[in-house]
Amino acid sequence: MRCVVFGTKPYDKVSFDAVAGHGHQLVYQMPGLTEATAPLAAGFEAVCIFVNDRADRMVLKILAAGGTKVVALRCAGFNNVDLVAAAEVGITVVRVSAYSPHAIAEHAVGLLLMLNRRLHRAYNRVREGNFALDGLLGFDLFGKSVGVIGTGKIGIIFCRIMVGFGCKVLAYDVTENPEAVTLGVTYVSLTELLASSDIVSLHAPLLPATRHLVNAAAISVMRPGVMLINTSRGALVDTVAVIEGLKSGAIGAVGLDVYEEEAELFFEDLSSTVIQDDVFSRLLTFPNVVITGHQAFLTKEALAAIADTTLKNLTHLERHEPCPNQVRAN
Ligand code: NAD
Repeated sequence: MRCVVFGTKPYDKVSFDAVAGHGHQLVYQMPGLTEATAPLAAGFEAVCIFVNDRADRMVLKILAAGGTKVVALRCAGFNNVDLVAAAEVGITVVRVSAYSPHAIAEHAVGLLLMLNRRLHRAYNRVREGNFALDGLLGFDLFGKSVGVIGTGKIGIIFCRIMVGFGCKVLAYDVTENPEAVTLGVTYVSLTELLASSDIVSLHAPLLPATRHLVNAAAISVMRPGVMLINTSRGALVDTVAVIEGLKSGAIGAVGLDVYEEEAELFFEDLSSTVIQDDVFSRLLTFPNVVITGHQAFLTKEALAAIADTTLKNLTHLERHEPCPNQVRAN
């Protein structure tokens, strides 16, 4: 299949080029997919996109008019694709449902450890010859209650790691994962999880039901000084409410790999630019907030698996075989 890869970064090209013998013709484009860039796909049967590329109704219409039949997401989440519109214009949507759930779960643990032991502050202090320990006080994870929202592929690995630390793990999910129960994880209601957890980590997909799951009402029932970790999708969290929670002390620490308005910021070097997003800029001012720019997926193993599965998805569709990674509107 001829496929244009939107929003290509150097690491994407390396991982796709490393997959031998797939037989597809890939053309790499640096711009992300938007209404303005969609015409670049004219004449290509497939387009490959990532988390912040926009495949809304208008973009899908432009793609279909240019002859595109396949949108291949090189990620797990598909909240940026209008699946109803895709079906209407005859575009099949595939994704990489699992690549390395370890990569994301381990990154979530990294954020948690960094915030708890103030490693981000300690790093800077020591480099400046400041060896004072004031303000670096953490807590033992052993024995603490950790609430996990979403116990699918990533959430279950996060549970396993937290059980390894000796934490009491509580979980909330619309479907219970039997492996979690075997691990000793206790499923509770969302309210009970929020009220009983010292740390809350989000691993549910972005759906209408999960949008702003952590809002002012949720924060009001959380333990004072709770640590919140979000490596899932930014809009699971109402950022303005979280900022209020940080200001009042209701929230003690926040670790984010995702942000609701990240499409305007992440994956680009904006270090010489004035950031216009005041909410994001406010978040950056807190000493107890650590933000990474949607990098939880970025491991060698994950990139290799993403490239391999994406190309296999194209092969399935080219051969008119059922593709296990096809996503459809409900
Ligand atoms: P998954 O589908 O295996 O698991 C998601 C879990 O969430 C399922 O158990 C599901 O039942 C549960 N869920 C669905 N609706 C829910 C609700 N209303 N309340 C509570 N739980 C609900 O997905 P996964 O592979 O574990 O990925 C989880 C999310 O992580 C993805 O949707 C994606 O947004 C995000 N992700 C982020 C990165 C990153 O780089 N930061 C990378 C990959 C995935």
